[in-house]
Amino acid sequence: MPIISKPHARILLVYTGGTIGMIENPQTGALQPFDFSHLIDNVPKLEKLDYRIDNISFDPPIDSSDMNPDRWVEIARVIKERYDRYDGFVILHGTDTMAYTASALSFMLENLRKPVIITGSQLPIGEVRTDGEENLITAVQIAAAVNPAGEPMVQEVAILFENYLWRGNRSTKMSAEGFNAFKSNNYPPLAKIGLDIHFNENALFRPKPGEDLKVHYRLDTSVMFVDLFPGIRPSTLSHLLATPGIKGVVMRTYGAGNAPTDPLFHNIVRQAVERGLTIVNVTQCVNGGVQKRYVAGDKLAGAGVISGRDSTAEAAITKMMFLLGCGLESHALHESFDQPLRGEIS
Ligand code: ASP
Repeated sequence: MPIISKPHARILLVYTGGTIGMIENPQTGALQPFDFSHLIDNVPKLEKLDYRIDNISFDPPIDSSDMNPDRWVEIARVIKERYDRYDGFVILHGTDTMAYTASALSFMLENLRKPVIITGSQLPIGEVRTDGEENLITAVQIAAAVNPAGEPMVQEVAILFENYLWRGNRSTKMSAEGFNAFKSNNYPPLAKIGLDIHFNENALFRPKPGEDLKVHYRLDTSVMFVDLFPGIRPSTLSHLLATPGIKGVVMRTYGAGNAPTDPLFHNIVRQAVERGLTIVNVTQCVNGGVQKRYVAGDKLAGAGVISGRDSTAEAAITKMMFLLGCGLESHALHESFDQPLRGEIS
């Protein structure tokens, strides 16, 4: 369905930083974040839209490599405190950790009924060939989009980049160069952007009816990734899984969720689970997920490892932070991990 805009829609822009607003340091030539007025001065076309656009900015704006859970809480708080005043929210963000932020916010903002559209760009907005201007304008239009009944078209956290709108917690940064920098490898686009903006209505997430927005501010960072590779030493694995203060591990495995079949490997994993560590299995492949296809994968499940199914690594690690932050442990944590909370797994 092509786009219908809510007349006089109220949109809040939240500028966190990223290339979109950066300018070149004249001494070093390196890009560094710059203030919001510079960014907005470069998009005079925004005034042509029949919307009321306000803005709020991180001070100072950051390169998204400096993004962290405290900042996610800041963003979530901005949305919660202004939720009733705006029809939609556009978060301007660096691309490097955008998929983590989108995933984390999706879990933090339970029963979200308004669009939270995250965008940025590969080239600064002040550059002649920038992709930032178009991304910003399209993101604002999507944040103002309604269905024929007048309800927000998007009621979830999504990433808008170049030609596509993706579910935030299904997205991954795929390119450090291309304008179509993001992709959701296991889920169709929520919208395609060409001459018109076409929503894929069947793919859009809808929260449970009748529930109000509930914002979760606690994220537990006692988590880490463990990446398997041929040649990983049992002693290395054992050491990693015994990292002090760690409660949850997202293990990145091969193919359909496979790991070495060596009993030594499995004993180390089983012992870590028995000590209370939660381990979730996600694949290193960009497409597909963990399946019950091979003995090499089944053995991990037998050792007490949870299947992350077709979750992205970004969604799995932020879901772990979120569920641990909710105080869930062992069985309850296992059960919640297995459920799609915000459409992050199939
Ligand atoms: N380093 C930048 C950032 O993530 C890259 C970008 O915005 O594309 O903030």
